[in-house]
Amino acid sequence: MSYLNNRQSPLQHSKFLVQYSILNSPFPPVTLSVQTISMRHFFVLAILFAFASCSTNKVDTIVHHAVIYTVDSSFTVAEAMAVKDGKIVAVGKNEDIQKNYTATENIDAKGAAVYPGFIDAHSHFYEYGLGLQEVNLDATKSWDEIVDSVLSGSKRNPDGWVIGRGWDQNKWTIKQFPNKDKLDKLFPVRPVLLSRVDGHAAIANQAALNLAGIKPGQTITGGQIETVKGKLTGILVDNAVGIVTRKIPAPTEQEIEDAFLFAQRNCFADGLTTVSDCGLPYTMVNTIAQLQHKGSLKMRMYVLLSDRPENYEYLFKRGVFKTPGLDVRGFKVYADGALGSRGACLLQPYDDQKNWKGFLLSDPKHFQEVAEKIAAKGFQMCTHCIGDSANRVILKIYASVLKGKNDHRWRIEHAQVIAPEDFHYFGDYNVIPSVQPTHATSDMRWAGARLGAKRLKSAYAYNQLLQQNGWLPLGTDFPVENISPIYTFYAAVVRQDLKGYPAGGFQTENAIGRADAIRGMTIWAAKSQFEEKEKGSIEPGKYADFVILDNDIMKVKGSELPNIKVLKTYLNGEKVYEKK
Ligand SMILES: [Zn+2]
Repeated sequence: MSYLNNRQSPLQHSKFLVQYSILNSPFPPVTLSVQTISMRHFFVLAILFAFASCSTNKVDTIVHHAVIYTVDSSFTVAEAMAVKDGKIVAVGKNEDIQKNYTATENIDAKGAAVYPGFIDAHSHFYEYGLGLQEVNLDATKSWDEIVDSVLSGSKRNPDGWVIGRGWDQNKWTIKQFPNKDKLDKLFPVRPVLLSRVDGHAAIANQAALNLAGIKPGQTITGGQIETVKGKLTGILVDNAVGIVTRKIPAPTEQEIEDAFLFAQRNCFADGLTTVSDCGLPYTMVNTIAQLQHKGSLKMRMYVLLSDRPENYEYLFKRGVFKTPGLDVRGFKVYADGALGSRGACLLQPYDDQKNWKGFLLSDPKHFQEVAEKIAAKGFQMCTHCIGDSANRVILKIYASVLKGKNDHRWRIEHAQVIAPEDFHYFGDYNVIPSVQPTHATSDMRWAGARLGAKRLKSAYAYNQLLQQNGWLPLGTDFPVENISPIYTFYAAVVRQDLKGYPAGGFQTENAIGRADAIRGMTIWAAKSQFEEKEKGSIEPGKYADFVILDNDIMKVKGSELPNIKVLKTYLNGEKVYEKK
């Protein structure tokens, strides 16, 4: 293929300018024929050519001697590129780019691999940033360890709420939900709320439960308040968590800005240049736009508003919100909870809890109404579906609204457990499965206990889902998983966790190829948010969002993938991260 895009070919461009210069020169017109050019004309022309070529092809940055995975439609690998005003102007061979362009900054990549900036198609960027200001329980391996971390973390502030997140009882020796007794002893007055890693369950102490007015035996639609022998245990599942979180004072303006900036710093260091934020209130749209306008927030964001009447009202009235850094045109709806907390809605009972199938978070009528409303206004619907029952309910609703092949790009988030007979819906109605490969490798140790061997076979079935439409956006769901796109790539391709477990990989018939995994983190993620014409590949005309890695993810051995580091991250042609 030709590396130089026709519309913006620098050669054509400079030719045009040379002719123009000649026509407007004070010298007599000349004919561009070797035989008729006089010596005087030859010098004039030489000067004009030199002048034209250096004035027309001056760019900001040239990256050369790189292995550039352009992720264009032919998955072309180039050697060099030129960047001007935040956009890529040319991609090609070292000698062509260096001959046709001069740059203020020249980056000799010394053979390093360059990829389009990574895009996370499903994350909770703001929540992750808030979490960076809370007690991080990700690494804890027992309830006692959690209590210790909370106690030391609580000393950062003298009073107010103690908020933690990231615990996962599946990592403990005793894999049962804890109870609040120890928290009550240590924090008789301060309210404490510790969220499970997936955010679908939490434990609160009595002070927090009192503030929320929760009583033993209380019930709630779409959630659970655990009561054992007439006493609250502090465990709250799905909608019950919200009763307590609504009592937490709203973060200050400074805390909100810090959340975005802390999250941005870490994401740039991992090579992300666009993140989705799945499920924000409409009021955050202005906050984000202001921080981007001010220049402190540079990360590009694709925002899905949560399933609330005021959010529909806002976006339907306003229309699509689109700037180079912010795109709001979709809604995030929750069909069910998570598999870990047994909130996922299954067609048949859980294997490790008889007579329990999980539950939908709303009546199917609600999902149908919402789908029709969003379709009528031409927006995007993205629904969180984990269990095979939740997936079926939503797929059928989508089918009834989308009516066959279409380009509405409606998505199912996670698409985690799919009944074998339901896969075809994705292809028949062009429904996009938006999946997170690290969920497979985080859940694989216990997902079989929940689902049994047979159901497990059609869970985390990314290759099967990819076959439905021929493309598949990838993400992480951070802070549920690590933010790293390199871990996503590793989990998608090798299907092992960071300890190399299991040998040979987990259900590798559903691994996806390396080129497809890169597409999933770049161009396909962009496409899942209607942005494939502006980002997701290194091609002329697109944003100069790219990363330089210390090793080539297309070539290193599978076991070495998790060690790959980002050397530099560029966004809009500007270096936003450099490894120290
Ligand atoms: Zn999520």
